[in-house]
Amino acid sequence: MAKIAYTLPVTHVEHYTESYFRFRIKRPRGFRFTSGQFIMLGLMIDDKPVMRAYSMASPHWDEELEFYSIIVQDGELTSRLQHIKVGDEIIMSGKPVGTLTLRSLSGGGKRLFMLSTGTGVAPFTSLIRDEDTYERYDEIYLTQTCRQIKDLQYAQQRIEEAKNCPLVGEDAQKKLHFYGSVTREPYEREGRITDLIESGKLFEDLGISGLNPETDRVMICGSMDMLKDTRVILDAQGLSKGSGHKPAHYMWEKAFTG
Ligand SMILES: Cc1cc2nc3c(=O)[nH]c(=O)nc-3n(C[C@H](O)[C@H](O)[C@H](O)COP(=O)(O)OP(=O)(O)OC[C@H]3O[C@@H](n4cnc5c(N)ncnc54)[C@H](O)[C@@H]3O)c2cc1C
Repeated sequence: MAKIAYTLPVTHVEHYTESYFRFRIKRPRGFRFTSGQFIMLGLMIDDKPVMRAYSMASPHWDEELEFYSIIVQDGELTSRLQHIKVGDEIIMSGKPVGTLTLRSLSGGGKRLFMLSTGTGVAPFTSLIRDEDTYERYDEIYLTQTCRQIKDLQYAQQRIEEAKNCPLVGEDAQKKLHFYGSVTREPYEREGRITDLIESGKLFEDLGISGLNPETDRVMICGSMDMLKDTRVILDAQGLSKGSGHKPAHYMWEKAFTG
């Protein structure tokens, strides 16, 4: 169990669907992280801490910390977390970690692809408001695959926020592109991202060329199956996976365990 470093009040809660909501908490003084990292957080339940990994969904410079959460109806944490209100207290560990940071990718890339499913979009909504992302890359493509169109709302809102952000807005308007696809209802962009890459539809829809290790860097955050399937495709395109302290063409993190 992670050590509790902070107890922090909730400042904002917004529900999107029966499965997804976001919340913001006060940022502790002196708490530093790199955009894309995650932390352990949770609630005291019956006097015991229940903590889970959560990606910071806000950029490293934000005055508060934002998180985007799943609701698992019988989940130990989120069956309770879904009911939090402004003023309630969240417990949090002190040491952010994670590999989905810009420095885990090798230099020389011009295009950054961030591929996600569901709440796996959270580390990327942090990165799209980080000025370093725009300094390093000329084109940034964020993809999110969900079951239904309504599940894309959070990411769509964050894209708008990035495009209107005083710090990165001008760059985001020129460089940032969002590609949402759904798997459980008819939509103009239907299907898993792996299928959309393999069929070439992703690139056709965006009007860009296919993956190329010379110019492209990729970050992936989704289920273990999604990570494995994506890996097969990226490896076949000649991209190599980074590990630990060895930066490479692509890097991944699982969006949940199980
Ligand atoms: C590195 C990392 C980062 C994470 N970041 C986030 C985040 O930013 N937001 C977030 O909501 N969750 C995130 N998670 C998942 C999170 O840690 C919890 O699993 C989630 O909050 C549910 O907790 P629970 O106790 O209610 O259910 P758990 O007992 O933890 O999970 C029950 C089951 O629900 C499913 N599940 C759990 N989380 C998810 C999810 N996010 N999406 C789809 N299915 C899921 C799995 O099948 C799991 O076995 C992350 C996990 C990891 C490993």
